[in-house]
Amino acid sequence: MSTNKNWKPATKLVHGGTTRSPFGETSEALFLTQGFVYDSAEAAEARFLGDQSGYIYSRYANPTVSMFEQRMCELEGAEAARATSSGMAAVNTAIMSCVKAGDHFVAPKALFGSCRYIIEQILPRYGVETTLIDGTNLDEWKAAIRPNTKGAFLESPTNPTLDLVDIQAVADLIHEVGGRLIVDNVFATAIWQSPLQLGADVVIYSATKHIDGQGRCLGGVVLSDEKWISEEVHDMYKHTGPSMSPFNAWVLLKGLETLDLRVQRQSTTAAQLADMLTASSKVSRLIYPGRDDHPQAELAKKQMRGGSTMVAFDLEGGKEAAFKLSNALEIVSLSNNLGDAKSLITHPATTTHQSVAEEARLELGISDKTLRLSVGLEDPADLIADFEQALAQV
Ligand SMILES: *Cc1c(COP(=O)(O)O)cnc(C)c1O
Repeated sequence: MSTNKNWKPATKLVHGGTTRSPFGETSEALFLTQGFVYDSAEAAEARFLGDQSGYIYSRYANPTVSMFEQRMCELEGAEAARATSSGMAAVNTAIMSCVKAGDHFVAPKALFGSCRYIIEQILPRYGVETTLIDGTNLDEWKAAIRPNTKGAFLESPTNPTLDLVDIQAVADLIHEVGGRLIVDNVFATAIWQSPLQLGADVVIYSATKHIDGQGRCLGGVVLSDEKWISEEVHDMYKHTGPSMSPFNAWVLLKGLETLDLRVQRQSTTAAQLADMLTASSKVSRLIYPGRDDHPQAELAKKQMRGGSTMVAFDLEGGKEAAFKLSNALEIVSLSNNLGDAKSLITHPATTTHQSVAEEARLELGISDKTLRLSVGLEDPADLIADFEQALAQV
């Protein structure tokens, strides 16, 4: 496998992890196979014993999936990875590989809904105590971490309010008790933030978002050091089967080739739209990590290399105005997905966070006024014109 640590991200995204079959194909080959055949009974035995390298079964590993894992490792600066069928399979595999009954786990309240469900609802069922805190407040992290805290999970920027959590500070705190920090880097992307370099132990992605970037298939990946992946994740992954389909790995490899281009372009457009929206008297609050008026602008500069493809904003007039704007947009589609080539807008209070009690929602900064925009690859001028005409109708 080609590995050049000195390559820049854009080069790694095109060439990282590529292996070629004897045909010498240019594009990555799609090995759509469940199993692999052996030259002899002795070879089969040796492979199962681990004395001979090679593939056994695609639930454990597959050549196309391995290319995707290797490319992600090179991009992220990780030693090892396991690709999963969805982002949630990656979150679940990473968390379950950290804890056992009797352990304690900490996470912020502001999390992607299903991530919060695993921590708040599933872990306690298996004897793992959990504490949910305000992730932006380091004193709450200090108070929550105990001698038996084996893991912590965080997202930064968070969904949908784009708050930041100080990754380095939280990593230092959790390491004092020997726990592992898992960072969900979906909103920042590998282009703008490198959690492992900031001290995190594990990075996970929903590859469904920017890594595919074209709204086609689900996927996820867990990245960490070789020791933890081989000792704690490998057996969990192999025996519970959250594996990525080779077909999806192939689509996602092609997605990675353009990740740098897309994220740069989408973020530049997001910054332009943020400027345009703040200038409107109908927008009462706007949050964009790349702006100086972000409540944690200093932290953004410290841990991120760029803004985001996401913008959150509050509209005067509450739900009625938010619905009116959403319905009036002609280019921007209504969808709770994100990271797509198509610009997408969602009203979290009535969609992604509908099941969260109103009080808890307001505590997270999600009111009836809040809209979350995922900026796509359309021409910035067209998107600005679309928002101008839609705002005029509100
Ligand atoms: C979408 C998302 C997930 C879950 O990923 P799926 O691929 O939908 O399973 C987890 N975390 C964040 C921040 C997400 O946006």
